[in-house]
Amino acid sequence: MLIALTGGIGSGKTTVARHWVELGATEIDADLLARQVVEPGTAGLEQVIATFGPGVRSSNGTLDRAELGRIVFDSQDLRLKLEKILHPLIQDEAQKIIANTKGPVVYTIPLFVETNSPLKFDSVVTVSAPQQVRVDRLVRQRGMTSQSADARIAAQASDKQREAVADHVIDSDCTLEELKERAAAVYHSLLAGQDK
Ligand code: ATP
Repeated sequence: MLIALTGGIGSGKTTVARHWVELGATEIDADLLARQVVEPGTAGLEQVIATFGPGVRSSNGTLDRAELGRIVFDSQDLRLKLEKILHPLIQDEAQKIIANTKGPVVYTIPLFVETNSPLKFDSVVTVSAPQQVRVDRLVRQRGMTSQSADARIAAQASDKQREAVADHVIDSDCTLEELKERAAAVYHSLLAGQDK
């Protein structure tokens, strides 16, 4: 069973994914894969450098994300060019892990709505919480300013958009203990549905 888990910044999806792993799921983290496919020595990094120039390789050989970010920031064309390199590499890696995993796999993908994953998910779950709750978490636990938390939230799809494509919505406006209980309930109902 392949579950897509999404949610905006500060929504609690990492907390949900971690609990599902405790319950036996294997997690694939799309953000982590996105970093792995451009590590030094990968074909991905060489492709990015061939496309965006040697200036995106930092002196220690790693990808200079800040420089790459500056280059693609203003240009949708260049962003698409970058996605065209990265997305197939990320999907290949994800598919390899899925093929080699027995049991439920949770694919944590923050930008599920914004990107178009060709993977066939059995279920899509999103984690939602009011904007102010998420901003408070980001300010208190990540040291962000409330302005930058608001800006990061505004740059992503909305909870409504994620909820529209989700089979299950987990409301994380509750205590951490309750969030784990809610996550477990969804997980068990997904497993039960699979047996029918
Ligand atoms: P990001 O996309 O930024 O990685 P996320 O959706 O993965 O965010 P988490 O990392 O799970 O969110 O949660 C953000 C922060 O808020 C964490 O420090 C987490 O412990 C805290 N948090 C999440 N849910 C709750 C909750 N229900 N009550 C209190 N704190 C919470």
